[in-house]
Amino acid sequence: MDRILIVEDEEKLARFLELELAHEGYAVEKAFDGRTGLDLAENGGFDLILLDVMLPGMSGLEVLRRLRRTDAVPVIVLTARDAVMDKVTGLDMGANDYITKPFEIEELLARIRAALRSGGHSDPASSGVLVSGGLTLDPARRTVLWNGAPVALTNREFELLRTLMRNRGIVMTREKLLEQVWGYDYAGETNVVDVYIRYLRQKIDDAFGVKLIHTVRGVGYAFRDAEGR
Ligand code: CA
Repeated sequence: MDRILIVEDEEKLARFLELELAHEGYAVEKAFDGRTGLDLAENGGFDLILLDVMLPGMSGLEVLRRLRRTDAVPVIVLTARDAVMDKVTGLDMGANDYITKPFEIEELLARIRAALRSGGHSDPASSGVLVSGGLTLDPARRTVLWNGAPVALTNREFELLRTLMRNRGIVMTREKLLEQVWGYDYAGETNVVDVYIRYLRQKIDDAFGVKLIHTVRGVGYAFRDAEGR
């Protein structure tokens, strides 16, 4: 079931949309201000977000800007009539589509179906999904799957795996991994990399009987697929 977040401060409109979308079989959550909307959007694992532009607390465009730093979830912006700037800015900032109020519900439903088709898993190249054999890492949804079944990773393990998979076949030094996963200002022990590599191996290589994470003695680590690439 696709999950949709509605961020809209006109509560009557938000409730109307919730009823219509639930009727269409979507799971729906609502937020009435920008900040709550951003929190939910960042943590809720939604398949699509309907985002009003004029919101209290934080504007819809600011929510979009912040969300796009980490998340490729499809977003449809709801704009006021003739607010041409909002449409242009919204699309520039990474909205997938916009719809002008007032709108016919059928038109919105059609746009939602189109955005859901174009987003998500159907287009791995543009959504940044990393695939290697049975392993799939989806940065937007923050999920890792092994042959379709979820693998539970901590945030740090996820970032380490993402960095390794992004650089598939390339040897990454401990320093480079520290910099990219822990940040430039990390001041702790450098063997933290080795510790997290061990966690990842337990959860992936050992758990599924594969060898993807390779040690390059004296240098660092490399992610290689089954063919050694
Ligand atoms: Ca509004």
